[in-house]
Amino acid sequence: MDAFDIGIIGAGVHGASAAFHIAGRGRSVVMFERGTPAGGPTGRSSAVCRAFYTNAFLACVARDSIAMMANFPVHTNGRESGYRRTGLYFLHPEEDVEQVREVAAGLRRIGIEVDVFDRSQLAGRFPRFDLGGIAAGAWEADGGYADPASTTIGLLERAVELGVEPRMRAGDVRIEARPGGGAVVITEDGRRTECARLLIAAGPWSASLASQVGVDLPLTVERHLVAAIAWGRVEPVSFGFADLPGGYYCRPEGEHLMIMGSLHSAARADPDHFSQEVTDDESLHLVQPLVRRIPSLADAEPRRGWASLYDVSPDWQPVIGEIADGIVVDAGTSGHGFKLAPALGKHVADLVAGDPVDPGLEQFHPSRFDAGRPLAAGYRSARILG
Ligand SMILES: Cc1cc2nc3c(=O)[nH]c(=O)nc-3n(C[C@H](O)[C@H](O)[C@H](O)COP(=O)(O)OP(=O)(O)OC[C@H]3O[C@@H](n4cnc5c(N)ncnc54)[C@H](O)[C@@H]3O)c2cc1C
Repeated sequence: MDAFDIGIIGAGVHGASAAFHIAGRGRSVVMFERGTPAGGPTGRSSAVCRAFYTNAFLACVARDSIAMMANFPVHTNGRESGYRRTGLYFLHPEEDVEQVREVAAGLRRIGIEVDVFDRSQLAGRFPRFDLGGIAAGAWEADGGYADPASTTIGLLERAVELGVEPRMRAGDVRIEARPGGGAVVITEDGRRTECARLLIAAGPWSASLASQVGVDLPLTVERHLVAAIAWGRVEPVSFGFADLPGGYYCRPEGEHLMIMGSLHSAARADPDHFSQEVTDDESLHLVQPLVRRIPSLADAEPRRGWASLYDVSPDWQPVIGEIADGIVVDAGTSGHGFKLAPALGKHVADLVAGDPVDPGLEQFHPSRFDAGRPLAAGYRSARILG
């Protein structure tokens, strides 16, 4: 039987980032992926990148991730993340304003530039917007978006260059607890690989893998949509924004398109049987509040979107921790985990490698739910803002 110090299941952006950060630490590392890197939800991500978080640890992680993506070639030996700095607005109703001002002040103290504008200032900046229901807007100049597949592949290719063994197209692996800690990973052809420590970074399939070693993770799976419009003859909006009264986020995609999705929870889905297609009705439902906000977008042209999966924890914050002897999970990122991954992978790598870990990571252990200590997240039902 093969034996490695560390095994990783899942070549989404979280598994790839952990591999990238463990590589070069003198441990033997093997990574298993059923399909191809970023072939799951990561590759369908809107990949909005912001450090506008209410959770201070995640804000720092997002800040560091954005810096990494902006300087990706330096970190990955010349590869590209596709990071584009567009700036992002977070448009809030009256009831959020006090919290937004407190959060913005806290973010500025940790080097994240966020300015808060009141409604009259916003009106000057957004003559095309109907600002009904909006009392204030936070502006994060360094926010933007990246290419989720390039980012994942860049991290993984660099990890492989540094010695990580990739086993792509391995089919659905299973796990058994290994005497003495860690796990035996079994691929569909029956091959068994002993991993002294194991990271489960399998997104919506993480709970099912954890159950194979007797651990019940409180994760659910939701199907989420991305709708797209082409500007056509409409003047493009050059920045992204989250519209809390409207319940959606949107961002430009290259020169010609804007993509958007919901800020709220959606119907549960079976991760092995769900539709990746978005119907015209679903698209229309999603786009309507955006057109109410920017009436001139009524002349934009609808384009086909797509659907994919969020792996959702009860408080919408990530679930990260050692769940059995030598078995670590990093999942439950609830629709906001892309931009966390590049820097979060360092903390996850520390945990998996058994190296000293930032105490800030402890709050994400899944035991918080049994202990009745869910984390605060976002603003009211927009918990996706973390
Ligand atoms: C529509 C959509 C929009 C989003 N928008 C944003 C956004 O704007 N900003 C943001 O920060 N985040 C966003 N997210 C969330 C973000 O994309 C996810 O948090 C992140 O991609 C999760 O990455 P992951 O590596 O944990 O999981 P995944 O991408 O799910 O990767 C898990 C991998 O594990 C593999 N796997 C699973 N089970 C097995 C098995 N048994 N054997 C072998 N391999 C297995 C899968 O094939 C998959 O490749 C969005 C997500 C979606 C779906």
